[in-house]
Amino acid sequence: TFEPSDALKRVKPSATLAVTQKARDLKAKGIDVISLGAGEPDFDTPDHIKEAAIDAIRRGETKYTAVDGIAELKTAIIKKFRRDNSLEYTAAQVHVAPGGKPVIFNAFAASLNPGDEVIIPAPYWVTYPEVVRLLGGEAVCVKTDIGNGFKITADELAAAITPKTRWLILNSPSNPTGMGYSAEDLRALADVLLKHPQVWIMTDDMYEHIVYGDYKFATIAEVEPRLYDRTLTMNGVSKAYSMTGWRIGYAAGPVELINGMRKVISQTTSNPCSISQWAAVAALNGDHSFLDARNAAFLRRRDLVLDWVNQCEGLVAPTPEGAFYVFADCAGVIGKTAPNGTVIENDNDFCSALLDAEAVAVVPGIAFGLEPGFRISYATSDDLLKEAGVRIKRFCAALT
Ligand code: PLP
Repeated sequence: TFEPSDALKRVKPSATLAVTQKARDLKAKGIDVISLGAGEPDFDTPDHIKEAAIDAIRRGETKYTAVDGIAELKTAIIKKFRRDNSLEYTAAQVHVAPGGKPVIFNAFAASLNPGDEVIIPAPYWVTYPEVVRLLGGEAVCVKTDIGNGFKITADELAAAITPKTRWLILNSPSNPTGMGYSAEDLRALADVLLKHPQVWIMTDDMYEHIVYGDYKFATIAEVEPRLYDRTLTMNGVSKAYSMTGWRIGYAAGPVELINGMRKVISQTTSNPCSISQWAAVAALNGDHSFLDARNAAFLRRRDLVLDWVNQCEGLVAPTPEGAFYVFADCAGVIGKTAPNGTVIENDNDFCSALLDAEAVAVVPGIAFGLEPGFRISYATSDDLLKEAGVRIKRFCAALT
């Protein structure tokens, strides 16, 4: 019989994928489920990017490439960091992998030893603590406060750092909250980090281009150049360019770390898909004006969701600055009884009862390390979001 490894036993399967699957199962039974669980834009990859991939196939760019990325893509990434973040890197400081997720894996595989601690502000993207645990590290999850927009404060960070802290992960705008760190927020965290040279910083900037209103994106190596030598600035094409299926993520940081990550990738996945790399070159170097219309659509949907969340008794959510998620605190419904008689004791109960009663799928906060709450993904049509609002409002009103 199969006996899982100790490493595997430490890992939980992805809760967001589990919710999406449950919604899919109900749909297969003919139930009209509205799934607000997905973590991908509902827009198509722009045509100029697809054309670049088709051209690459025709040119025969269909073989192994340099393991951590073709020179043309590294050049496009260097230009991107200079253009958007005023950060200077050389090709030897750039790593490309089959998605943002593998970039994170490669960085931790290259640097973590058993017992090394990684500080992860909660609510967090589900993958962080699991990858840390898979690789033998200790995930130190620090719960944040809704009053501070679910962002870690300088005091909370200072209290979490120990001599064993190896990394801090910063994700802005955040999955699952959509909240973004301002340059001032990062300045305060940088002041703490400067006192602890053993702590490296991994910034997950995946949602950099999906931002709203006055929010101005910032990343910590730009805000505090003295942290440049211990920051891995991570990004990718999945979300901004609607390229989740193409599998390209990238990062830039200190050469020794990048060399280590190349060693990991050379013995695991090898290079990311050659065709996708050419598509990513076109994405990064190409016209970005399509983002305006997409962000306008996301903003409209964000406001639609916030409008109904705020009308539900017991729910409260801060206004996200980016990404396509709203994280609603549901402390106000805990202890209430659903129409089917279930007492809602936690956010998992809330989400299950909501799915059963009204066929709306959202992901419970416990999956992201902060209870009680739930994540709503608004990467779906206005009509579905409006209908979801009708159902959730009806569900909350029926709680006693
Ligand atoms: N980082 C965050 C915060 C994400 O939300 C996601 C995707 O859900 C990723 C990284 C992973 O991106 P990729 O699909 O490129 O692996």
